[in-house]
Amino acid sequence: MQNRMKKLLMGIFIIPIFICGCSFGYEDYSAAGTVMGTIFTAGFRAEGAGNGAEVWTQLNQAGIRLENDVLSRRVEASEVSCINAQAGSAAGCKISEELADYLMLCREFSAQTDGAFDVTVGALSTLWGIDEAAVDSTGFEVPADEAVNSALDLCGYEAFEVSDNCAVMPQGMIIDLGAVGKGIYLAKAYDILKDNCKYGVVAAGGSILTYGYKEGGQPWHVGIADPFGKADVIASISLEGSYFVSTSGDYERYVEVDGVRYHHILDTATGYPANSGLCSVTVIIPADKSWDGYFSYKYNSLKDYDISGLLSDALTTAVFVMGEEEGLKLAQHYEVDILLVRNDGTMVMSDGMKRHID
Ligand code: ADP
Ligand code: MG
Repeated sequence: MQNRMKKLLMGIFIIPIFICGCSFGYEDYSAAGTVMGTIFTAGFRAEGAGNGAEVWTQLNQAGIRLENDVLSRRVEASEVSCINAQAGSAAGCKISEELADYLMLCREFSAQTDGAFDVTVGALSTLWGIDEAAVDSTGFEVPADEAVNSALDLCGYEAFEVSDNCAVMPQGMIIDLGAVGKGIYLAKAYDILKDNCKYGVVAAGGSILTYGYKEGGQPWHVGIADPFGKADVIASISLEGSYFVSTSGDYERYVEVDGVRYHHILDTATGYPANSGLCSVTVIIPADKSWDGYFSYKYNSLKDYDISGLLSDALTTAVFVMGEEEGLKLAQHYEVDILLVRNDGTMVMSDGMKRHID
C-alpha cells in the first residue's frame, strides 16, 4: 500500500515542463501526471499563445471526472460503485446516458467475444487482487480453487441487464471497467486535443493516443514494449494522423509465487490468469474509424472516436484471453490492425500492421 501511495504521489508532484512558442500563436507543452492509477504523459502543440497549461488542466480534469464520478469501482461515489452497491436489487441503479452507452457497448462486446472480455469480471478480479499485489505483494496468496469457483459464479455478462438509464444485476456481481478505462479516457483526451491543439500525443499506461499531423509531416513513432524486458521495445510502429494504440500484456501487473506468474488478465472460462500462448497484444485503431454496422445498438452519446478508444483497449484484453487464432479473427471482424507476441518471442501481425512497422 505504501509503495502504491509513493507511486501515485510521485506522479502528482511531477512538475509540468513547457517550452513556449508563444510568439507564433501556439505553445508546445509537455507534462506528466497520474490518471486512473497510472502515470500519464502528454505532449502537444496548443493553439494560441500560453494555452498549454489550460489544455493540460482539461486533460487532468477529464481523467479525474471519469474516474471519480463515472468509472471507478474503487471510488465509492462513482456511478459504477452505485451499480455494484445495488447488485441484487430489482430496481437496480439509475445511471447517466454516458455510462449506459459505455456499459451497453461493453456488454455487446462481451457477447461478441463469448465472454473472453467480460465486463462483469469484478468478483474474480477482486478475489485475485493482482492490480494491488503488483504494487505491493505483501500478504498475497493464490486463492483456493473453491474461492475461484465461487467468484466465477458471480461473473457472467448474460446476467447483467443495462438499458439507457438503468443497470440491474444479481447479488454479488461486480462491474469492472479496468480493461477499458484508459481507452475511454484517451477518447476524451482526443476530444480536448481536437478542439485546442494542432497535434499531440497522450499516453496512459499501455495505451496511447496520437493526434493530428506533426509539422513537416513526420509520422508518430510508438514503441511496443519488450514483454521479456531485454530491450526497451520489441517493435516500433509509425502512424500518420490520429490513432488509438493499446497494448495488454502479462508483464506489467503481476505477482510471482513459486516461480509462477499470476497476472491481471483473467480468463472467465477458468477463473485463472489467461494462458493462451500470448504475452502481449497490441491493437491500433484510427480515431475517426466509422463504426456503422458493427453493433446492433446505436450508441447516441458516443462519437466514433469514443468507440475507437474503448474498443482499442477492450480488444487487447479480449484477444489476450482468446489467443492467436480466435484473436486474429476478432481483429479481422472489426477490421483493425493487430500485433501479437507469442510466449516464445515470435510475432504475428495483420497485413495492415506490417505496413506500420518501422
Ligand atoms: P492494462 O490495464 O494493464 O492496460 P488491460 O487493459 O488488459 O490492462 O486491463 C486489465 C484489467 O481489466 C484488469 O486489471 C481487470 O480490472 C480487468 N480484467 C481482467 N480480466 C478481464 C476480462 N477477461 N474481461 C474484462 N476485464 C478484465
Ligand atoms: Mg484493455
